[in-house]
Amino acid sequence: MPGFELFGDLERKEVNDVLDNGVLMRYGFDGMRNGHWKAKALESELQNIFQSKHVQLVSSGTAAVSVALASAGVGAGDEVIMPTFTFVASFEAIMMLGAIPVLVDIDDTLGLNPEAVEKAITPKTKAIMVVQMCGSMADMDALQAVSNAHNLLLIEDACQAIGGTYNGKPLGSLGDLGCFSFDFVKTITCGEGGAVITNNKDYYLNADHYSDHGHDHVGNDRGAETHPFLGYNFRISELHAAVGLAQVKRLPNFLEIQKRNFNILKDALSEIPEVTFRTVPEGGEESCAFLNFFLPDLETATKVSQAFNENGIDACWNYYNNSWHYIRKWNHLKDLKSLYPISNEVKKGLESLKNKDFSKSDHFIGRNISCLIKLSWTEEDVKNRALKMVESIKAVLKH
Ligand SMILES: *Cc1c(COP(=O)(O)O)cnc(C)c1O
Repeated sequence: MPGFELFGDLERKEVNDVLDNGVLMRYGFDGMRNGHWKAKALESELQNIFQSKHVQLVSSGTAAVSVALASAGVGAGDEVIMPTFTFVASFEAIMMLGAIPVLVDIDDTLGLNPEAVEKAITPKTKAIMVVQMCGSMADMDALQAVSNAHNLLLIEDACQAIGGTYNGKPLGSLGDLGCFSFDFVKTITCGEGGAVITNNKDYYLNADHYSDHGHDHVGNDRGAETHPFLGYNFRISELHAAVGLAQVKRLPNFLEIQKRNFNILKDALSEIPEVTFRTVPEGGEESCAFLNFFLPDLETATKVSQAFNENGIDACWNYYNNSWHYIRKWNHLKDLKSLYPISNEVKKGLESLKNKDFSKSDHFIGRNISCLIKLSWTEEDVKNRALKMVESIKAVLKH
């Protein structure tokens, strides 16, 4: 997945453009910038790539999730349904707005289970946030149907799924709003950065204003702009956008390498009958940022994970014991540890989190191994890696 593995002259040139004229701010300073609008240029590239009418760059993927929710009017006391397997940012972004994260089980897609979502809906539910983890997707037709039936927003966190598609459409473009991250380890990186995409003009204008202190961006005199509502600073800088602009031009190449490496590993592991793969919904194409496979049980998965470590196979994880990505070890959140007081309404909404039964999620996450697909591997590297992985798994299964 990581675009940081492949840096070069293109990134340097784009950054130098910005340094040469000294305008590090994405808005204004028209006279000084010699025609360089890196954030604007990146937004227009992303409109094409994500087949979306509107793109708003922001300072991170976490910011993108908060801005997307805020732009659609999600706030204090609203419930947002999210999966147990995600990145902790989903939880944080909802909490930041005073809304209530409602965690529900995943299924064998490693994404939201549509039936579990339906059961979790209450009169307070405002949005379903689907997280397209590890380059693939949840059953989007089913989730769309649930969100339509209950008149809920469908927000897509596609931070890990750049390049994946569903029925030919880019992941991230299926919901009412989509979110992307360009942090240091994502498929393309700005260093830090993110984007909100939408076809809804009102949501877009809200995102544009909200992410820059409520500035309306009318005219080119910041001092004279009006501020229709309360905002915040979630801006991206021109320096970060410049790096992203170079990276986005290389995206087709990145995705091609990713796919080649993924297929070599998947083909090799397919020969082991005990190994199964995550379900990719019909009509879906993975981005191939990660290869996810299941072993028969938690014990075997734990042993395989250990064997990988011992045999020098890096970048593979069993998320069952991970404290960033999976609810089981989110003790600081279950205990509601916060620097500042949390409202009683949110506290009450989170009460059940501590003792809620997530055994259905455990069933998938416990048996899963998730391997990052690197771009810097040569074909030779991947083939050697595949051999070592197969040997390690077979050795564990024999015992
Ligand atoms: C990386 C990531 C984020 C947050 O992105 P940042 O740019 O690091 O803030 C949110 N959701 C998922 C699924 C991610 O992988």
